[in-house]
Amino acid sequence: MENSKVLYKDFEEISLKEIEGNYNGFQENISSKRGKIILNDEEKIEVIASHFKGIMQVLGLDLNDDSLKDTPERVAKMYVNEIFSGLNPANEPEVTLFENKYQYNKMLIEKGITLFSYCEHHFVPIIGKVHVGYFSKGKVIGLSKINRLVQYYAKRPQVQERLTNEIAEGLKKAIGTEDVAVVIDANHLCVSSRGIKDTNSSTITAHYSGKFINEGTKNEFLALIR
Ligand SMILES: [Zn+2]
Repeated sequence: MENSKVLYKDFEEISLKEIEGNYNGFQENISSKRGKIILNDEEKIEVIASHFKGIMQVLGLDLNDDSLKDTPERVAKMYVNEIFSGLNPANEPEVTLFENKYQYNKMLIEKGITLFSYCEHHFVPIIGKVHVGYFSKGKVIGLSKINRLVQYYAKRPQVQERLTNEIAEGLKKAIGTEDVAVVIDANHLCVSSRGIKDTNSSTITAHYSGKFINEGTKNEFLALIR
């Protein structure tokens, strides 16, 4: 008990000196938009690193250890530049469309897109597959762009239901059609590696709109992604 008190006091001193110091330095750059603090990527990395350092100190980790000393900055860079880069609208992929010159007007499916996202309740991975279907309205999208759109929305703290809708709405906007279907089949590490520790279950979510609301079309799509 005595130890944890000392640790907490140490942390308070550090947080006053370092964390608030950082915030004061950024004061003029902070503006509030929809309740979010807007910082540039470099500033975000610096602030997150100092908070993460605080978490590690509270846990009792030795930040002078060679193996740990760069972890706060490493984690902060990974958050901002990689796994949560989809929070920054500047990273939205540019979508190029092509004329549908083969007049292919049937269902087009890209199945088995690799999904790596993060559960917003526990900040642990969601790993799975995304299946996407659409009908062209005169334009087709490059297949790798569908993949990039999926990755953009996945790189945010997420719940699977919202991710499903965000991918569907992003695709509708990009291709200019309502005829879109998205199915996600994923494992949540917060379910498999902790808590209930169920390694067998997976979570399936689906979004159907436009032509996919038709039972026959939906069933054709589901048969093809099986
Ligand atoms: Zn979770």
